[in-house]
Amino acid sequence: MRQPLRDQAIGFMMRGPLKPPSDRIMSPILPVFSPFPIAFVRGEGVYLYDAAGKRYLDFGSGVAVSSLGHSHPAVVRAITEQAQRPLHVSNWYQIPEQYEAGEALIAHTFADYVFFANSGTETIDGAIKLIRQYQIYHKHPERYRIITIKGAFHGRTFAAMSACGKNTFPPDLPGFDAISFGDWDALESAITRHTAGILIEPILGEGGVQPVPLNQLRRLRELCTQHDLVLCFDEIQTGVGRTGHLYAYEATGITPDVLTTAKGLGAGFPVGAILANAKVGGCMQSGMHGSTFGGNPLACKVVSAVLAEITHTPFLDHVRTMGQWLWDQLTALTKTYPHIFSQVRGAGLMQGLVCGASLDNRSVALSLMEKGLLVIPAGQNTIRLIPPLIVTKDQIDEAIAILGDFCEDSSFSFRQHHP
Ligand code: PLP
Repeated sequence: MRQPLRDQAIGFMMRGPLKPPSDRIMSPILPVFSPFPIAFVRGEGVYLYDAAGKRYLDFGSGVAVSSLGHSHPAVVRAITEQAQRPLHVSNWYQIPEQYEAGEALIAHTFADYVFFANSGTETIDGAIKLIRQYQIYHKHPERYRIITIKGAFHGRTFAAMSACGKNTFPPDLPGFDAISFGDWDALESAITRHTAGILIEPILGEGGVQPVPLNQLRRLRELCTQHDLVLCFDEIQTGVGRTGHLYAYEATGITPDVLTTAKGLGAGFPVGAILANAKVGGCMQSGMHGSTFGGNPLACKVVSAVLAEITHTPFLDHVRTMGQWLWDQLTALTKTYPHIFSQVRGAGLMQGLVCGASLDNRSVALSLMEKGLLVIPAGQNTIRLIPPLIVTKDQIDEAIAILGDFCEDSSFSFRQHHP
């Protein structure tokens, strides 16, 4: 009873001039995705190309993954060189490539320890272990609950789903207290004698590019220190240069105890990492966590190559300059077309446009795709602009021209319906 790809995709899409690659493709994939009717055959820098040779400006980066764009020479070199050596050996052995990548993360962050995983959600599960183990180690096993934010996204393992109250397969795993975004007083009163830590995205990504106010992040740090709780930042989306800093916490003036990172860390190669300070990381012992694939030589060579590029001095300056330029252009757009895009939110090259009430973000993304611009829908009827960090001013201008064109078309039909 396989479903044709087209039927899977059509669920949320308005029929438009774009046709699926083939009406007759029977997807062998579990029907959990609703892909846009397009496939890419080539990528170069900030551009992707379909089989017909049409060029798309990739302002989605595969959901903040392709941090260095497509086919970046440093990434290609790392993969091809390591492919001549052991791709995998197991954590039963010492892995020099893993130590090298770990040392690079430690050198550029607060971390004293690193653990490599294969995806974002795995780092969240690992981080939950670290948070609980900190309390167990200090003879407080009754402190096991973690405060989280409703509407955040931490991944799809049962723990990650339960953490953000998004478990569609009840019952939830126990141990999480989710408070509403913005209800910061509730966060303080949610702390009980059972609380072990706080898990938060500094900017909610899937939740609609919603930055947590700086003063609240600082307050969280104070509360964690005061109550001896572990503060964990989920920087799976905000990390690896996305906000103009290697990690977003750097701009806040506070430091978490634990941080999870993935997505852009491998620039397309699947890898994640948990960073921990000595206070929390030092509570873990042999056998408490592990992974078959996590930290294999291939993944770690890519991580080292990506970090070498991103931590190279002018790189993050470039991200900040481009982020400001994108922000200014998007703000101008919201002023000219407030009924189409009502607000810009975000930081650096992680920005969200809130779509007007008469628009549906998925349809907006589809229309922009037809015009050659790829963006990613997010919560709160938002579209995300998260281009590769190597994006240039000209490419931002190209994206803004497409957005302007879309706004003009939509304004025309808006005026027809609202004379
Ligand atoms: N945390 C955040 C903030 C994310 O944005 C995501 C993915 O979108 C995850 C966790 C889960 O990561 P993954 O899909 O690699 O498991």
